[in-house]
Amino acid sequence: AERWEAVPLAPPDSIFKLTAAYKADTHPNKVNLGVGAYRDDDSKPWVLPVVKKATEILLNDPTVDHEYLPITGLPEYTAAAARLVFGKDSSVIKDERVASVQTISGTGANHLGALFLSKFYGWNEKRIYVSDPTWVNHHAIFPQVGIPVSTYPYYDPQTIGLAFPAFLETLKTAPARSVFLLHACAHNPTGVDPTREQWGQIADAMLEKGHFAFFDSAYQGFASGDLENDAWAVREFARRSVPLLVCQSFAKNAGLYGERVGALHIVAPSKEGAARIKSQLSVLARAEISNPPAHGARLVSLILNSDELFEDWKRDIKTMAGRIIAMRKELHRLLTEELKTPGNWDHIVNQIGMFSFTGIGPAQSQALVEKAHIYLTSNGRISMAGLNSHNIRYFATQLDKAVR
Ligand code: PLP
Repeated sequence: AERWEAVPLAPPDSIFKLTAAYKADTHPNKVNLGVGAYRDDDSKPWVLPVVKKATEILLNDPTVDHEYLPITGLPEYTAAAARLVFGKDSSVIKDERVASVQTISGTGANHLGALFLSKFYGWNEKRIYVSDPTWVNHHAIFPQVGIPVSTYPYYDPQTIGLAFPAFLETLKTAPARSVFLLHACAHNPTGVDPTREQWGQIADAMLEKGHFAFFDSAYQGFASGDLENDAWAVREFARRSVPLLVCQSFAKNAGLYGERVGALHIVAPSKEGAARIKSQLSVLARAEISNPPAHGARLVSLILNSDELFEDWKRDIKTMAGRIIAMRKELHRLLTEELKTPGNWDHIVNQIGMFSFTGIGPAQSQALVEKAHIYLTSNGRISMAGLNSHNIRYFATQLDKAVR
């Protein structure tokens, strides 16, 4: 018998399947709203000018070689990345209580964080609570290392907003010391974030129950255009000593998707505790990747550690976030003022980040794909980055048709 006969064929990844269908479509007005990456006003990938500048510097640096990085990554990168998320004046930074390790982008940070917890967390019950819905990969990453996933209520289809009372109730009734995965900002896939006041209440509940916050931060700066603003929840939780870790990605905010630049930061109660945690992260990383890729980390390190490049980066982040926010406003205006589309569309401007839950159902989403050549996932999620000045009117008109 053939050796691998028992291996079943896995279904294709739904997003990749959507992209393939979009590519195969020859209709001139086709629109891809499934894409999880920034596109410029001409639907093209955008290399940030600051990244071009940093690349040029690296190219001309005679000291750059292709030797291995340390197991835990480029030290000047991980240190600057920690300052970026926690703030340089944060007590966790000043007291050197953060164990930081370079990872294979945000996905690798989620995985390494999960693996570390699976081995070392003092569980009452091994389980992670993720929002309903969440980034689909969360449902794969945790079971992969033997951590079952439960969901907490998050999205309320009635209001197309946050199911806050039900969320809070789950925080209060979950076993003590449970682990809750929280999206630091720009929740994927809904675009719905808690308000600062609600974050405060979430922190209260977590402190009361001794829960652990597993922050996934994939969009710092990319969401609002302001790095400080988008780090607010993480910093507030750190300030209030909620036990936490942060998974950090530079895929979106630096446009370095394929370079896989990320970091895992675990906050410890003491400097000595952080050193012990980092020693174990190093053991885990050694077995999995030996050491992380150098190029992207060098680019981000240059950007974070130079005042000039950092200012350039902030400008580029504003360009990306600004275009996405402008698309939200224009879509809202077209639906409410021009087309007088039935229903309330305020969620389009109230949501934040690359993704928006439009509130339309699977049948309407399907109709948009089949009749209008507009590609989106069946949950009604659209990527704002897929909209631009050339296609937004077409999209608004087709959405209007689909909901009438
Ligand atoms: N976490 C969330 C919530 C995301 O949306 C993403 C990307 O879509 C990631 C993590 C990880 O992305 P990457 O591994 O490219 O950094």
